[in-house]
Amino acid sequence: MITFSEVHKRYATGYEALKKVSFHLDKGEMAFLTGHSGAGKSTLLRLIALIERSTGGQVIVNGQHLGRLADNRIPFLRRDIGMTFQEHRLLFDRTVFDNIALPLVIGGFRHQEIRRRVRAALDKVGLLNYEKSYPITLSGGQQQRVGIARAVVNKPSILLADEPTGNLDPALAEETMDLFSQFNQVGVTVLIASHALGLIKRMGCRTLVLQEGALISDLKPTPNKRT
Ligand code: ADP
Ligand code: ADP
Repeated sequence: MITFSEVHKRYATGYEALKKVSFHLDKGEMAFLTGHSGAGKSTLLRLIALIERSTGGQVIVNGQHLGRLADNRIPFLRRDIGMTFQEHRLLFDRTVFDNIALPLVIGGFRHQEIRRRVRAALDKVGLLNYEKSYPITLSGGQQQRVGIARAVVNKPSILLADEPTGNLDPALAEETMDLFSQFNQVGVTVLIASHALGLIKRMGCRTLVLQEGALISDLKPTPNKRT
């Protein structure tokens, strides 16, 4: 589903954010990506969604070699990838409904289909009664869930999350991680960049560790230790 072979990313500044990173994530797998701030986690996620292009090696997503993918094909790739950002990137002058509907409006879906899908996404994240609310009136945890609903409204096969629990208290952080698990349980491939080490340990998932752009460890899941 996602394969990195000796992937390099050098930014225009000359900074090498990723160095020879290789790993494979199977369809339906859930994994964490961890490491210190600046280790290259966001960069790695951005390469998968082609927000950035690699400068060496191969990135293969859903069987497509991204290095060979023309810019005009990027929207088609992104239809199958949902991504959440630490700062949510919600539109504050639009309702929750409109925020989540946005990818579908861009995708040209019919009005009725949009309503159906947005409601389904809101239901999944437990915010059915909030479709007319404005994001500013919601708590941080609820805003994060609106971001997750927007990421999954297209029913992507891959879900990428960049520090989804960064601003949340421990209980909300755990709820958010459980939400990602639920998407994973219905077959979505999930990759979460996070430095919430305690939480990651409790989730019992595969964990990729980046250090200064190099992948230094890839720990497979241990039996579920959650209580
Ligand atoms: P992380 O998500 O692990 O905090 P990032 O992938 O955001 O790490 O960043 C890795 C390194 O690459 C950092 O040193 C960052 O400053 C640098 N970097 C990120 N984006 C850019 C960019 N667009 N141009 C130049 N350097 C960048
Ligand atoms: P986040 O990791 O929360 O997405 P960052 O602070 O890493 O946010 O990056 C915010 C934006 O700034 C990104 O688009 C990234 O590419 C860019 N950026 C980060 N570090 C640098 C840098 N050293 N030079 C230029 N752009 C950067």
